[in-house]
Amino acid sequence: MMRTLLLDVNYFPVKIISWQKAITLLVTNRAEMIDEYSDKIIRSVSLSLKLPKILRLYQTHKLSYSVRFTRLNVFHRDNFQCQYCSIRLPACELTFDHVVPVSKKGETTWENVVTCCKPCNTKKGPKTLQESRMKLLKTPRKPSWSIELCLRLKEDDPLEWWDFFPKKLAS
Ligand SMILES: [Zn+2]
Repeated sequence: MMRTLLLDVNYFPVKIISWQKAITLLVTNRAEMIDEYSDKIIRSVSLSLKLPKILRLYQTHKLSYSVRFTRLNVFHRDNFQCQYCSIRLPACELTFDHVVPVSKKGETTWENVVTCCKPCNTKKGPKTLQESRMKLLKTPRKPSWSIELCLRLKEDDPLEWWDFFPKKLAS
């Protein structure tokens, strides 16, 4: 499945989109082609286009720089590591914990939710840190933009994309 890297007007990577979405952006004149898959051509009655490999939006993308609060992004921020006992596990064996429990008005936010293994989650239960005598590895914060959190690369994505990834953020 071919994917397209979408850049904003300043050539900053916004996200990775499906080629179908990329074609829509192109034909509605909202983006320009920066690079294409030279051997993949889309044909319809009215047009023939090479599949976009990299597109650049004509306008600034408003929502692109904030990391979305999702279960998987919390795991990525915490390096798939239980924030209490520091064990690293695959996503299917992890859960998350409200540092201040929901029953004590703890919110579901970046600052109050951490990655947790199931035994630690059971051990902590609806208790606060003090009550459970458990310690966090680090204070949870909202993460800033990163390739891992915002783009989710796959192994067969084109190497040309790396030319557009900010060097200091690449890891
Ligand atoms: Zn644990």
